[in-house]
Amino acid sequence: MSSPTTMPAAFIGHGSPMNALDPTNRYVDRWRAFGASVPRPRAIVVISAHWYINGTAVTAMAAPRTIHDFFGFPPELFAVRYPAPGDPDLAAEIAELAAPVWVGLDHDSWGFDHGAWSVLVHAFPDASVPVLQLSIDATKPLADHVALGARLAPLRERDVLILGSGNIVHNLGRLDPGRPDEGFPSSVAFDDEAERLMTTDPASIASLGEHPAYSAAVPTPEHLLPLMYIAGLAAAAGTPADLLVKGYAFGSLSMTSYIVGGADVTRRSS
Ligand code: ZN
Repeated sequence: MSSPTTMPAAFIGHGSPMNALDPTNRYVDRWRAFGASVPRPRAIVVISAHWYINGTAVTAMAAPRTIHDFFGFPPELFAVRYPAPGDPDLAAEIAELAAPVWVGLDHDSWGFDHGAWSVLVHAFPDASVPVLQLSIDATKPLADHVALGARLAPLRERDVLILGSGNIVHNLGRLDPGRPDEGFPSSVAFDDEAERLMTTDPASIASLGEHPAYSAAVPTPEHLLPLMYIAGLAAAAGTPADLLVKGYAFGSLSMTSYIVGGADVTRRSS
């Protein structure tokens, strides 16, 4: 079981990058409440759907850049900067913890993508806590990501906050503008099964890969994979996750988010 000093962890359904600019909606309000509810972390490690490469790497630069990894959005979104420092020493610690999974130290290719900063501008708006990103290895099956998440559990005892950022249902080809706050039945069925597993048996989260709605929910898995890391952390701690907020956008996006080891903020949820 987790000790009282164990840092919470969370999975955030980030949705549109435009959430970064929205001062209030039912999702960003919960992200902000989560950030305000946790003890000040030594650092934040973000596993974002948008750093999806053929290997595991961690940002190891002292001053990571803000990356605007999208097209067709207004100039205000391209003007967003998240100036948090990095933490090269922690990058080396993560590489050690992950062994035998090899983790490359990234000195110049990445930084903070919008999966990270669209959430962080709300949850940790002053950008004073160091932030690292851990890439997602596209060549590995779901279960390997759960196992790697569990290996990172000691970081929670070292005051490091681990944040997964993706979407449990993410099918951009099926977006329906007529359903701004609704999910298709298949989206709801998949999201409900994820909720059952996260809140009762997070160690079994990789069974989502056999769900009948899997390929409709996530035609490509990168937005689901950050959840695997947070499920691995929950399983390692023996503490199932709590729902932070649940909801849908445009039929084929789930905005559902979870927190591990931070029940105070979930009890205050509406
Ligand atoms: Zn995304």
